[in-house]
Amino acid sequence: MAFKLPKLNYAYDALEPYIDSRTMEIHHSKHHAGYTNNLNKAIEGTELETKTIEEILMLPDLPGNIRNNGGGYFNHCLFWDILSPNKTDISKEFGSIITENFGSISKMKEEFKTAAASRFGSGWAWLCSNKGKLEICSTPNQDNPLMDSQKNCIPVLGLDVWEHAYYLLYQNRRPDYIEAFWEVVNWSTVESRYKASI
Ligand code: MN
Repeated sequence: MAFKLPKLNYAYDALEPYIDSRTMEIHHSKHHAGYTNNLNKAIEGTELETKTIEEILMLPDLPGNIRNNGGGYFNHCLFWDILSPNKTDISKEFGSIITENFGSISKMKEEFKTAAASRFGSGWAWLCSNKGKLEICSTPNQDNPLMDSQKNCIPVLGLDVWEHAYYLLYQNRRPDYIEAFWEVVNWSTVESRYKASI
């Protein structure tokens, strides 16, 4: 079974003014489509065709092209899923879990922002569930916390900090893009992913 480029649940221009329509269109229809096609080519005719993307990413010693394109496929699926054009709030229940783990919601956001802003070059920042404990980390390229994971670290929120994700609107101002990201996070999806991880 080949992996499929998912359809977005919202229009390319739905996240404006925080993420612009042109960036969304190129990001989804070119970048994500490219990772999807290249992943399918790389696993064609192998036993990996029968596995889920999570199972593939958790395998040790993945060849570079499967690591990069499989990571790109999974990461962008997660990214579209945790974005929303409708402003959502962190529920009381999830807010108290965040507060238990970080001290407060704003401290969690501050730590996430630091991880996203300080990732050198291309990569991702993550909020992960490590058997229910929330943690923040960042990864280079299209890596993610499932890879090389003896920790069972499951990403529940991710931010793409490759320049292709923000350069048209923000140019070199990555911190402004990170700030804007909070306006379009779908917190109910993030909470569902967290609950599914434990
Ligand atoms: Mn991307």
